[in-house]
Amino acid sequence: MYRQGHLGVTLGIASAGTAYLLHRRFDQQKQRKTETFEKRLANRSPVVLKGIAAVATAGLVSGIVDYDLSLGLGHRTVTHSLATAEGLRHSVPRIGKRVADTLDTISKQWNIPFLREYVAPSIRENASLFGTAITSGIGLHGLGDIPTHGVGGSALQLLWPISSHSFTLGLVSSVSPQLNLLLYQVGVAVAVVSWATVLGRLIFSNDDWQKIRQPVTDIAGRVKGTFSIAKSELTEIIEALRAQKDVLMQRAGTNTRPRGNLGKGQALITDKSKWRHRKRQSLANAPSPANGRRDMILNRESPPHF
Ligand SMILES: [Zn+2]
Repeated sequence: MYRQGHLGVTLGIASAGTAYLLHRRFDQQKQRKTETFEKRLANRSPVVLKGIAAVATAGLVSGIVDYDLSLGLGHRTVTHSLATAEGLRHSVPRIGKRVADTLDTISKQWNIPFLREYVAPSIRENASLFGTAITSGIGLHGLGDIPTHGVGGSALQLLWPISSHSFTLGLVSSVSPQLNLLLYQVGVAVAVVSWATVLGRLIFSNDDWQKIRQPVTDIAGRVKGTFSIAKSELTEIIEALRAQKDVLMQRAGTNTRPRGNLGKGQALITDKSKWRHRKRQSLANAPSPANGRRDMILNRESPPHF
């Protein structure tokens, strides 16, 4: 996959996921009826900016991952590994804490209060989110690579260094310009819509947002209702068919001559091809002159209906 395709996948999924989390957070916030737009903007914009920074980081990482080729590392190995992703998720917050502690020391020694008061606390607060964003970037890059053939048959070694097993499905070509463009366009469209709804939460109060969202909630409710009705009806049909099957099986078990000329020890044939095969055999073994006309007989007689 080209960087364009990866960027589309990562931006689309990361934006939709982040927007969902932000919406949930805003829904839980209690608001006073008198809350002004300025107050809401001041309350909500820091977390929105963090979300944007996290998505941007994930997009950047998703693009960097394929530089393994230029670095002389095995393609789709070290940088595409789940072990690397998980390792970074754990180590980045720890490294962040160390950096913040060092900045505190430097701040005291060189008398630069700005570092201690603003930079170090900000690193401490956001290191964990930064680690998660990096891991998401690698994970979403891998998600884009899974359906592709890879370049020169190179494998996607998600379990590197434990195993070199390829997780590439080989469904589409990773170098297809149309596919890359499509993923990019769809991803960017999803990202734009997601962030537009987040912007809506800055502009409108919770009550107003509920009213704006109502038509969408109604349609979603109706679709859900239709699905549940269809599901329960389908379950009923399946249960009825099962009951019918049980009855038929029981009859087949108790009746020794359910249909046709089944002899002793012969089971009821429930498969059309088996029936034809047995019919052919019985005709071939027949000593009568039917042998000469057996194809005619075979074609004229219709098999039992199943
Ligand atoms: Zn890749």
